[in-house]
Amino acid sequence: MTAPSCKVSEKFPLTARMRPGEPPPDLKAYERAGGYQALRHALKHLASTGVTELVKLSNLRGRGGAGFPTGVKWALVPMGENAPRRKYVIANGDEMEPGTFKDRLLIEGDPHQLIEGMILAAYAIQADVGYIFLRGEYTVGAALLTQALAEARNAGYLGRNILGSGFDFELYLHTSAGRYICGEETALISSLEGKRAIPRAKPPFPQISGLFGKPTIVNNIETYCNVPHIVINGAEWFKSISRSKDGGTKIYGVSGKVKRPGAWELPMGTPIREILEEHAGGMREGLKLRCFLPGGASTDFLTEAHLDLPFDFDSIARAGSRMGTGQITVVDDQTDLIGVLRNLEHFFAQESCGWCTPCRDGLSWVEKILIRLEKGHGTPQDLEILRQHTKWLGPGRTFCAHAPGAIEPLQSAMKYFPEEFERRVRAPQARAV
Ligand code: SF4
Repeated sequence: MTAPSCKVSEKFPLTARMRPGEPPPDLKAYERAGGYQALRHALKHLASTGVTELVKLSNLRGRGGAGFPTGVKWALVPMGENAPRRKYVIANGDEMEPGTFKDRLLIEGDPHQLIEGMILAAYAIQADVGYIFLRGEYTVGAALLTQALAEARNAGYLGRNILGSGFDFELYLHTSAGRYICGEETALISSLEGKRAIPRAKPPFPQISGLFGKPTIVNNIETYCNVPHIVINGAEWFKSISRSKDGGTKIYGVSGKVKRPGAWELPMGTPIREILEEHAGGMREGLKLRCFLPGGASTDFLTEAHLDLPFDFDSIARAGSRMGTGQITVVDDQTDLIGVLRNLEHFFAQESCGWCTPCRDGLSWVEKILIRLEKGHGTPQDLEILRQHTKWLGPGRTFCAHAPGAIEPLQSAMKYFPEEFERRVRAPQARAV
């Protein structure tokens, strides 16, 4: 079956309908630009498992940070007449990773794209109900989504018997009360159920037992936004617009002291140097790049030696870090690295859900030691305690990935810049140069 072509989805499908400084397309403008054609096509010509298969073949990997293959995740949901009901789809829009703002751009720039992607995901797993779990501070996005959801419902894209297909699906907006850990999928589910937002043990995975104990998929906003384009243009097209084996484009962003901080949709696998120098304009006058966090605050620092790496999941993992959200935070040579680390660890200590001791107490210890080093009161023993914490808070020592993620900037800074820590102890008042 050949899908009708969509004039929007060429090289940069996610942002093609956005116009800087203008409101996002309303329903009519979205439809004029090819919107909801993918949904019409899927409901008419594809079985629900066919949508999942297409997403699997496209090599779409989750854009929230972990990079798990999206189609594989969906295929784990029980299907068929005897599958449990209800089933849920949830969009994780609790974007609280410091330095990351790509999902806000997608919500504010093209809210119907997210809604169409979620309806397609719901059709793929035969879900009845969906929630957009949105960061509470995103008030502009919440207003735009409320309006877009009403438009979609009035046009028959949501509700009972969507477009006469017999498929029923309702989608609601839920604004989060706000905790970083709500972005972890099982903590998000606990929060939606009205419980304390703490992570749950896995297995069982949410695809089997998620919201209210029913099969649930949780995906990032950017992940869902890719789905209509895959359905309308096919898996091969999606792979062809990438520069890596992971399909599609990616919203890459840069913050820090570069000439043009911002976010750009580029082919997945675009080299880091190209993003930093061509799109972000390079470092500001008089500053040199010292290191950068490739994918938000909870990733390991990389250095100048890694600039020519293609920015994709596997290349960054081989270099000892994580692609995370794909939002680069640059640290220049005039900024105090210990101060940067203290600031990050303060955030993570504050956002620990408090469930397990290494995370609840360990991150506060790390913060206290970094404050001592920054003020020039550190001792050699402090460095040893910091080193030990990078192990005690590493993978497998805590209930969820918050603590291991939180410790990644510290462990990599100690690996790449040991002299910075030694100097603080030897000549405590010395500042970074
Ligand atoms: S690692 Fe931290 S955030 Fe995760 S469950 Fe333990 S205390 Fe909570």
